[in-house]
Amino acid sequence: MSREKVNYLFSGGTVVVMDDSRRLIENGAVAVKDDKIVGVGPAAELQSRYEAAEVIDFTGKALMPGFINAHTHVPMTLLRGLADDLRLDVWLMGYMMPVEREFVNPEFVRLGTKIACAEMIKGGTTCFADMYYFENEIAQATAEAGMRGVLAQSIMKFPTPDAASYEDGLANCREFIQRWKGHPLIVPAVGPHAPYTCPPEILKACSALAQEFDVPLHIHIAETALEVENSRKENGMPVVPWVKRQNILDAKVIAAHCVHIDEGEMRTLQHAGAGIAHNPTSNLKLASGVAPVPLMLQVGVNVGIGTDGPASNNDLDMFEETRLAALLAKGFTGDPTALPAREALALATIGSARALHISDITGSLEEGKRADFIVVDLQPMHNTPRFSRDPEAIYSQLVYVAKSTDVQHVICNGEWLLRDRQLLKLDEQDLARQATEVAEKIDRFLVAREGNVVRKLLALGGLNQEESFEVQVKAQLEDLGRVEAVLKDSSLFKITKTSHYRQYDTYFAFGDQHVEQLRLREDIYLDEEGRPTPRSRFRLTLIGAASEREFPRSVILNRSRLTATPDQSLRFYREYLNPLEERELVKLRRRNRFSYKGTDFAINIDQMLTPAQPDYFLEIKSRTWSKRDAEKKAGLIAEILDLLGISDDQLIQEGYNVLVTR
Ligand SMILES: [Zn+2]
Repeated sequence: MSREKVNYLFSGGTVVVMDDSRRLIENGAVAVKDDKIVGVGPAAELQSRYEAAEVIDFTGKALMPGFINAHTHVPMTLLRGLADDLRLDVWLMGYMMPVEREFVNPEFVRLGTKIACAEMIKGGTTCFADMYYFENEIAQATAEAGMRGVLAQSIMKFPTPDAASYEDGLANCREFIQRWKGHPLIVPAVGPHAPYTCPPEILKACSALAQEFDVPLHIHIAETALEVENSRKENGMPVVPWVKRQNILDAKVIAAHCVHIDEGEMRTLQHAGAGIAHNPTSNLKLASGVAPVPLMLQVGVNVGIGTDGPASNNDLDMFEETRLAALLAKGFTGDPTALPAREALALATIGSARALHISDITGSLEEGKRADFIVVDLQPMHNTPRFSRDPEAIYSQLVYVAKSTDVQHVICNGEWLLRDRQLLKLDEQDLARQATEVAEKIDRFLVAREGNVVRKLLALGGLNQEESFEVQVKAQLEDLGRVEAVLKDSSLFKITKTSHYRQYDTYFAFGDQHVEQLRLREDIYLDEEGRPTPRSRFRLTLIGAASEREFPRSVILNRSRLTATPDQSLRFYREYLNPLEERELVKLRRRNRFSYKGTDFAINIDQMLTPAQPDYFLEIKSRTWSKRDAEKKAGLIAEILDLLGISDDQLIQEGYNVLVTR
């Protein structure tokens, strides 16, 4: 009987099949014809069945399915190490997004993808699930690198580097799917970023698109406790039921993270056939928590393992990720039998394939599946000796000891990607050189920004740079008797509006007293009895240390370079801007708007609470835009001072921030 012709026969070592029975074959063999596995079994048997164009001896080594990285953002290799050890909002809004807005373009994405592919191939990964911008370029680069990818075009409500609006994002995604559907290596997918960045209409449209083309839908779910808290507050329910209501679970879902979901939500995901991508390193590094993987497995959800983007990990090493997944499951349940090595390895291979909805073609070494596998050398010193009493000890070797540098060969879709640790489709030196050039540009951008508070604030986006000029005077008074009486005289002043609030000012200083300071001001409005109301206002102002101009009687012209309504917390700005000095002032303010001789002014009467001061402070000010107008208003302010009976020795020139340190 003649033997069937095949391209390759890998023969002689241990075959780790990762089928449902977790079969192990000592002195085993795998036969590859074109892009498929055609035989898996004992070496002697396969040698008699197949005539191979090339026989590869892997004695002393393990042949296993390639790792499948279930969640990542591959172009972010170019951003790894850029900003670490920061809180999620500062990291994301302060660094990642501004740099992405500036630098992410098709070329950046292609280079970042190739770097990621080189790293992943060398570490034994043959397939990954991605979500980013310009996914078409990612698909091109992935296919050129010979890797398999489930690639999702990101969609969100904010403008992104590749879509000015979500409608554009959705249209891009449709085109992307049409272009790649049916490709031997690429599975296109829809990527609504997260429930908190995609309103219901976007989520529904994404689900419809994924169902129309029968492609996966990749989304971040319940990554942080805050996300769940906000979902409960805004939607009255946790994240999984909320996305279910937006039809998301009608699609083939890949849910990244799921750190904060309960058992009911796990059941919902299981019923929907959704997959979960567990990203232990990223969840630890960003302090998001630890996903309850043993419970997920008990419930029967398909769980895979991912690295998340290299800016939050910072590598794409699936050996490390698998080991960490096993250790965390034990540490957090207090049960060393939780997630044994064998099952941890299953999560990173067939588990990921199921979570990505591609287990019919990859994830295990079974006849008819694509030839996606790796050969791991078990002979380096750190992996010796090897015991034969329990054949399953090989799983311990692979999970607890083996390192990405032990990967000797990588085959994907029947093609060699790595042979004897040499990359065959990518030029590492060239990629490293190009990465260095990009890093230099990003460094220059950030260095220029770091030295300039205005630029740093504007880099966040959403703030408008708006200048304002005010003519103003300040006075310090022991009592208000005369001022109050005069203000009531309606023949002199016409009060148009009075408001009363408690004002919290935080001043950030960045250098010496002569440079500008940033003031973050929160006003809590008070009712007639002086009790706080729900009404408040938050403002951010960059103020110059010196006045622009001085007029008689200590009246000055002040300039603010930037005023805006900030959209982040005080803590965010503190951690992002890193001021050298910070000072907080609390005062009770009564603000009267009034008109004097037909010109509008405001008078603020302040009582300083923190730091407490016995005197009252008074400010008279008016906005101005021209030099002549400023002069005229300065003259009127001098008249008002006379009317109020304020003498020169009661006038002060410093701002409040300086005043309270006297
Ligand atoms: Zn992610």
